[in-house]
Amino acid sequence: MDLSLREEDEEFASSFRDWLAGHPHRPPAFVDLADEVAWGRAWQATLAADRWVGVHWPSAYGGRSATPVQVALYQSEYARSQAPQPVNRVGINLVGPTLLAHGTEDQRLRYLPPILSAEEIWCQLFSEPDAGSDLASLSTRATPVDGGYLVTGRKVWTSYAQFASWGLCLARTDPEAARPQQGITALIVDMSDPGVDVRPLVQMTGDAEFNEVFLTDVFVPAEHVVGTEGQGWTVAGSTLAHERGTNFPFKEQVVHETYLARLYDEARDNGGLDDPLVADALARSYVDLGVLRLHNLRTLTRLGRGEEPGPESSWIKLTWTTMTQGLSDAGLLVTGRDPSSAEAGPWARQWLWSKAAGIAGGTSQVQRDIIAGRILGLPR
Ligand SMILES: Cc1cc2nc3c(=O)[nH]c(=O)nc-3n(C[C@H](O)[C@H](O)[C@H](O)COP(=O)(O)OP(=O)(O)OC[C@H]3O[C@@H](n4cnc5c(N)ncnc54)[C@H](O)[C@@H]3O)c2cc1C
Repeated sequence: MDLSLREEDEEFASSFRDWLAGHPHRPPAFVDLADEVAWGRAWQATLAADRWVGVHWPSAYGGRSATPVQVALYQSEYARSQAPQPVNRVGINLVGPTLLAHGTEDQRLRYLPPILSAEEIWCQLFSEPDAGSDLASLSTRATPVDGGYLVTGRKVWTSYAQFASWGLCLARTDPEAARPQQGITALIVDMSDPGVDVRPLVQMTGDAEFNEVFLTDVFVPAEHVVGTEGQGWTVAGSTLAHERGTNFPFKEQVVHETYLARLYDEARDNGGLDDPLVADALARSYVDLGVLRLHNLRTLTRLGRGEEPGPESSWIKLTWTTMTQGLSDAGLLVTGRDPSSAEAGPWARQWLWSKAAGIAGGTSQVQRDIIAGRILGLPR
């Protein structure tokens, strides 16, 4: 593996570094999530104006056709600058690549530009109360009618649905199909339809980032099918592979390196390093970060060869979960904060949020199942 950078990659990274330095991005204190999202839209629009969002998308659709190495550099520079993440993450990282892979040209031209500018936020309407890990058992129905479908069902955990213009929805078009995976279709749902009822759910962090979404006879025109009818499982496979593997690892590595450096300084200053439990937790986080780094480099090699993320993305997701949860535990040990206290501060919030890491985007148990079956070839 050759880890040296080409001249054009160095230039790519330094021009983004210069751009970030010239564009102040420290957010104010937000009153609530809506306030944060409004600020995030404006910040993402600033990035998009100079084509610094969705750099992995083709230039023809507003990206920069960045190579995997350039994407990694972009993410690292972004994380190092400590700028808040672009608000339309579902659109940029999941929906965009899905439409690029399976959408029609009309769909790409219509939906991709406002994803980048954050004029239209997207949500992912996949999970249901009885269909999370076992997504193929979803029961939301899309019944064929003149010119399209009527969609009825209930989705849950839908991040940012309360701010979304559109949702990428999986619904069952053929309940009689031989296998549950075969009767599913991916649809673009208009979140402003009167049949869409979004009810925010408050998490233990106190935020309401995700929602329940009730769909009642929501009309979806036929041209809002992504891929073809019945091909939804394949479409969802693309979306989930991007969710698990390609969109976060480099950013997360740099973000957590910064956290760890901060924690180490605090432990040195408050005497925590003399406590073997604290010292062990920090050392463990250092090792976990090193493991994530190696996985990242391996993924980069695969992507550089033009290969898809594949089931290895489960390995990255699992490594990231172990790392962020361990580091968050270390954060509480070093700072001595009680996560249930109102004054517990950002480390406690980080610790509370880290619990979601083992669930969002597929649980850790399910990732282990995928690794066992599809990578290691173990029997079920
Ligand atoms: C912060 C956050 C944001 C999210 N955002 C979205 C979103 O925007 N859109 C969306 O569609 N979804 C979203 N999700 C949902 C997420 O994808 C699901 O929570 C996840 O897939 C697990 O499904 P579930 O909650 O139904 O749990 P279940 O599938 O019911 O699992 C319950 C438990 O059983 C275990 N289990 C289940 N099956 C197996 C198996 N085969 N082998 C071993 N163990 C198993 C699981 O590991 C888990 O411990 C989000 C979740 C979180 C936490």
